[in-house]
Amino acid sequence: MRQKIAAGNWKMNGTAPALTELDALAAGLPATPPLVIVCPPAPLLIPAVDRASGIAIGAQDCHTAPSGAHTGDISAPMIADTGASFVIVGHSERREDHGETDAAVRAKAEAAQAAGLCPIVCIGESLSQRETGETLHVIGAQLAASLPETISAENTVVAYEPIWAIGTGKVPSVAQIAEVHDFIRAELENRYGPDVGAAVSLLYGGSVKPDNAAAIFEVDNVDGALVGGASLKAGDFLPIIAAL
Ligand code: PGA
Repeated sequence: MRQKIAAGNWKMNGTAPALTELDALAAGLPATPPLVIVCPPAPLLIPAVDRASGIAIGAQDCHTAPSGAHTGDISAPMIADTGASFVIVGHSERREDHGETDAAVRAKAEAAQAAGLCPIVCIGESLSQRETGETLHVIGAQLAASLPETISAENTVVAYEPIWAIGTGKVPSVAQIAEVHDFIRAELENRYGPDVGAAVSLLYGGSVKPDNAAAIFEVDNVDGALVGGASLKAGDFLPIIAAL
């Protein structure tokens, strides 16, 4: 059985008062919840770890190096030191805003693994790539170049996030999600072997909401979601968690 995961990415949202959402989440979790991860902005990592009950905490990015002259950056060992256990790497907003290449994303994922963190490695096509029929080619290339040399179900999660679905309210059809997730699963099995490839959790991300989560979670090879906007309020995130 693959680990089911509901991960919330708060992005650059939230100051200390937002931590009360963690209390509301903890209070509303189902009796046998999936793995729930909240990734707040970096300044909230330590108080979030201290406060969260039954919820894992993750960061939204890490540097490739463990330390050094990189003003403003945060390393994977520093994130691990906060008590966080996950880190998102290669989110499309990082790739776009900061020019992160697949090679950089792989280096970040490997740095995370080396620090004992589990990277959530994000991949996804743009709207123009989808419209020109390049989706699987793009996803295959990103997977090949962004994932670490070695992975296991315990130390890596993959998130498929079509860029055109992020924050737009547009969601791919169930058939489109299934096509990409089946493809990713097959690629993982080819590269890492059937056991590891079959065991790694694959998340869908992009406009997951309470009213579409159940249909998305029905899709084979969708093991959970990476949720942006709808993870900010426990009242929105809890029904998504309950649907998993
Ligand atoms: P969204 O963001 O749920 O707001 O579309 C998802 C993400 O960027 O991870």
